[in-house]
Amino acid sequence: MGKSTLFNRLTGKRLAIVDDAPGVTRDRREGDGKIADMRFRVIDTAGLEDVHDESLESRMRDQTEIALNEADVALMMFDARIGITPVDKHFSGLLRKSKTPVILIANKCERGAGEAGRLEAYELGLGEPVAVSSEHGEGIDALYDALKPYFDRAKKNKNSFKSSDFGDEDDDDDDDAVRKRPLQMAIVGRPNVGKSTLVNCLLGSERMLTGPEAGITRDSIAIPWKYKGRAINLIDTAGLRRKSRVVDKVEYLSTNDTRRAIDFSQVSVLVLDGEDMLEKQDLTIAGSVIDEGRALVIAVNKWDIIKDKKEAMQKLEDRLQTSLPQVRGVPIVTISAQKGKGIDKLMDAVFDVFEVWNRRVSTGQLNRWLEQVLHDHQPPLVSGRRVKVRYITQPKTRPPTFALFVSHTKGLPESYQRYLANALREDFELWGIPLRLHVRKGRNPYDNDD
Ligand code: GDP
Repeated sequence: MGKSTLFNRLTGKRLAIVDDAPGVTRDRREGDGKIADMRFRVIDTAGLEDVHDESLESRMRDQTEIALNEADVALMMFDARIGITPVDKHFSGLLRKSKTPVILIANKCERGAGEAGRLEAYELGLGEPVAVSSEHGEGIDALYDALKPYFDRAKKNKNSFKSSDFGDEDDDDDDDAVRKRPLQMAIVGRPNVGKSTLVNCLLGSERMLTGPEAGITRDSIAIPWKYKGRAINLIDTAGLRRKSRVVDKVEYLSTNDTRRAIDFSQVSVLVLDGEDMLEKQDLTIAGSVIDEGRALVIAVNKWDIIKDKKEAMQKLEDRLQTSLPQVRGVPIVTISAQKGKGIDKLMDAVFDVFEVWNRRVSTGQLNRWLEQVLHDHQPPLVSGRRVKVRYITQPKTRPPTFALFVSHTKGLPESYQRYLANALREDFELWGIPLRLHVRKGRNPYDNDD
């Protein structure tokens, strides 16, 4: 179907193909690949599509599994002209179970061919298929873009942490597998808002406050913890800061540390000082959580010393509405880390927002919904033409990401896209999380009359 052609194109070599005669084990082939400035190692595994012998099939499966475990990212190719076959479905099932992230490649898309097949592949639940033609060398730039984050991540991980410590390869995982793993929860915020106090309170010990003198020996920034039987990794910037430099903490807050904690998190808890809420720096941190696609919970700390609680809450909500309009409904929990108050509410909010962040809406439900919202409020005319909005799917979750297919992308104004995104959030209760809506030109792959 074109795997070897792509392999040869990436490695720039024609490697000899091991004899394909029945009964001969096809070994996996490896080679050094490159696209532009990116260098990587490519492993080509044997396909299962033409295997009938059981022992050969299981050997090939083993080979595929070994390759998968070693890889930073897997490419699964299908023939876009044929569309999704039962073998593709079978393979995608295996890939979804594996921890390795997957990029789906629609081959034989030269000069825009195979679009229907490519759209069909959203159903595999492996994200957006990248259209290429390995034969003609088209779409290699798109493949470059798709590979780049994994390339950067692999490079970063080799230099610093083991990625598995933080579960940051979650993106394309099986939903159940993600839920079984420890929830990655970061505690972020300005200095002195009470992050360390909160971490201590959560852990139920004075472990953190023993400070640098006692020597904090963890080499990772994630502290394994359990709350009501659920495994959590607490990712704590205060711990990081102590480890990296011993200075007056009022003065020192590395934005890098905060970014890194957010990057490793699934849910970030932004701690605010109840007396002094939503300063510019608080909003910057909240913005980074959303931009990184993580779920956000706001914990208003030191609530014990707030006199007019009602007024304080009103002020906070008003400011959030105007300053963080891109996510509505961020959960806000008032706590007192020092007195251990509000912790259960905080953790409930963390688990709730984590569920929302993982939510998947079925294609059927989405398209019934689309019909209704289009009916309520049509797209406006642009230069005398009205865009046809044809189809919507959710190719990705964590955070929920939607793909909307329209007749021409230019004619769909931002305001209308916002209307749709807001309606999605409201109707499917996607509160407090970043929500992504991508508009694509394309046809409904299931409607032949269109
Ligand atoms: P961090 O820099 O964000 O880690 O902040 P700390 O945890 O070191 O706390 C800063 C100061 O706020 C300390 O003096 C804490 O005792 C105080 N503090 C923390 N939580 C609370 C709280 O819930 N109520 C009150 N009144 N003070 C708190």
